Amino acid sequence: MDQPPASSDRPVLPLQYAHPRTAADEQSNAEAAIMAGAALAGYRRYFRHTRDAVRFYGEFQSRRFARGTVDQICKGCGAPTANVARIDWRFVIPMRTMEFGMSTEGNRAFLQTHHSLCDECFRRTALRVQRFRRRRAGAIALGVIGVILLIQSGRMPSPIGSWCAVLSLGLVVLTMLFVKLILRPPPLPPALQHVVAGTFENISRIP
Ligand SMILES: [Zn+2]
Repeated sequence: MDQPPASSDRPVLPLQYAHPRTAADEQSNAEAAIMAGAALAGYRRYFRHTRDAVRFYGEFQSRRFARGTVDQICKGCGAPTANVARIDWRFVIPMRTMEFGMSTEGNRAFLQTHHSLCDECFRRTALRVQRFRRRRAGAIALGVIGVILLIQSGRMPSPIGSWCAVLSLGLVVLTMLFVKLILRPPPLPPALQHVVAGTFENISRIP
């Protein structure tokens, strides 16, 4: 997976807090809200812009689950282990919560978290991830076929065209259901599924 934040050559501007004079308070309030599991709405108010809240979230969670913070207890089975896994997450803010006229650039953050995971649990997780990707690809293919059929059905003589339209709509609905079921929760051990409010991208073993 790509890791855009580090490779970005854009200057990183300082975060703008809602009340710059009490920035330290705003920061600790935002941290407390995130630790308590608040959604964006819960810590957005401590920042002037949504993009600052998103960036803060990414940076704070990356620090919180940095490589040096792992506790050497496997998050899959609870056994002691020195092995560490890194998870890549994508955090995307829906467009409707963005400020008017802002570019889409600030609405996503990429973050990485680190966790203790023994060999066996990593192997099992990697298998689940493989299956997850295959099913997701299958669901997307089904949706694409549905959309193509829907477009083609308009050119077919009735009643074949009507049946084709019904079939394709069915395929599209099925795809949406599949995606909803397949993408949530991510294919991780339960203890790791919700560590951050992001979309699971990848898991890798790190030395
Ligand atoms: Zn384990």
